[in-house]
Amino acid sequence: MKPTIDWHARAAALKIDGRPFIGGRRVDSVDGQTISNISPVNGKSLGDVSRGQAADIDAAVRSARAAFDDARWAGQAPAARKRVLQRFAENILAAREELALLETLDMGKPIQYSLSVDVPATARCIAWYAEAVDKIYDEIAPTGPNALALIQREPMGVIGAIVPWNYPMIMSAWKLGPALAAGNSVVLKPSEKSPLTALRLAELAVESGLPEGVFNVVPGFGHEAGEALALHMDVDAVGFTGSTRVGRKMLEYAGRSNLKRVYNELGGKSAFLVFPDFDDLKRAASTVAGAMFFNQGESCNAPSRVLVHESVADEFVRLVAAEAPSYQAADPLNPTTVMGALVDEGQLRTVMSYIDSGKNEGAHAVAGGVQALSETGGFYVQPTIFDGVTSAMKIAREEIFGPVLSVLRFKDEAQAVAMANDSNFGLQASVWSNHIDRAHRVARALRAGTVHVNQYDEDDLTVPFGGYKQSGNGRDKSLHAFDKYTELKTTWLRI
Ligand code: NAD
Repeated sequence: MKPTIDWHARAAALKIDGRPFIGGRRVDSVDGQTISNISPVNGKSLGDVSRGQAADIDAAVRSARAAFDDARWAGQAPAARKRVLQRFAENILAAREELALLETLDMGKPIQYSLSVDVPATARCIAWYAEAVDKIYDEIAPTGPNALALIQREPMGVIGAIVPWNYPMIMSAWKLGPALAAGNSVVLKPSEKSPLTALRLAELAVESGLPEGVFNVVPGFGHEAGEALALHMDVDAVGFTGSTRVGRKMLEYAGRSNLKRVYNELGGKSAFLVFPDFDDLKRAASTVAGAMFFNQGESCNAPSRVLVHESVADEFVRLVAAEAPSYQAADPLNPTTVMGALVDEGQLRTVMSYIDSGKNEGAHAVAGGVQALSETGGFYVQPTIFDGVTSAMKIAREEIFGPVLSVLRFKDEAQAVAMANDSNFGLQASVWSNHIDRAHRVARALRAGTVHVNQYDEDDLTVPFGGYKQSGNGRDKSLHAFDKYTELKTTWLRI
């Protein structure tokens, strides 16, 4: 039997290197400013990380541009790029325990999920795009007997990737996979709250054979390093994942600089519709609790609004409240923990203020509603379920990004659809009904990028992920993601 890992001992022995990764190596940041990297597990510093400035971003973009211009990566045959990226995926898996520990310490998710979900999903994403890249062909358009029109995909150049803290590795991989496979260079700006795994990924990529300068990472704050990257005149596209507030800024930055392409993957307030003809309310209740409280509710696609028919609402609320004790907030380094710590003190305060607002507006907490483990110095909230929520309440309208579920009641299908669509967001939705005609009708009427029927957990790299309305304008994952990081060129030949 494999000995159990003492994650606390490993955490205590950890030495972090928070310097930028530029041109294939760690470098000192230009002016040496740092940010103390606080772990949400216990509120203590993991060490200092560079507070990247415009000069660091500029150095990274220059390095990326030089690598692109001399074609050390883009000029390699797709099959050669594939082999390097496959090695990168293998090396990510080989570093599984180290990456999982960094991810958990940095953002508070349970170590068992960092090991079983985040690291394998990151490796799978890189491998998926590696495997795809030598199977994509250019096109010849049927333009007439004396002409040949070739339509070719070319890498764009330098891609700026700006990612959030909730899935630091997976969100990085969703940008890196298609951007690198297509032959681009990348400058990645991880969240200031969780920069450690992105920095380690860059080292692993170069150890796997990725040429120097192709993948650079500059840690730092959004309003400094992030803004400098999004405004840089020599960045061709920005793949941004984060809040709708900052997504708006990304479009402004592009307008103020070089009209770079901007792909926004933003927030959500996903609706989970339960119709009275669905015959297994218990499964629906356990599914919504599992999806809502996974990652402490810090998931863009968390099904945070349950809309349930009034005839089954009391029963449904009882069933979902009975799930809450299985998701008690606990030390993420304990291998059996299923819900860990919120990312930082600010997020803890935000979530608690939404909980207060729900109570003040008249919603009724049937589970949670309180902080947990405050004596540890970490940032923990109990899984919270509000009944009696109406569409006008703040907790039903705004993205909370914490373990807070709102239950609303509807009278008929038309009202359910109207309530679900009454949101600025449109990331995901779920419909629970035993009638295939109703399930299809409602799925079609919902304004969301992904609609699940009678489940919420199917996921695959083959399918696109993204939102309608203010949930964004791009699609991560799938072959569609190549469109974001490639230009189409038409070449006419007279024959
Ligand atoms: P955020 O918008 O605050 O930050 C995201 C990134 O942008 C970070 O790296 C941050 O440093 C940077 N940033 C912040 N201000 C900036 C600025 N002025 N200029 C340039 N960069 C700036 O979001 P967050 O709190 O890190 O993440 C949570 C948000 O991400 C939620 O809204 C969540 O729904 C969303 N999200 C969306 C998806 C998706 O695929 N749609 C996936 C995960 C998370």
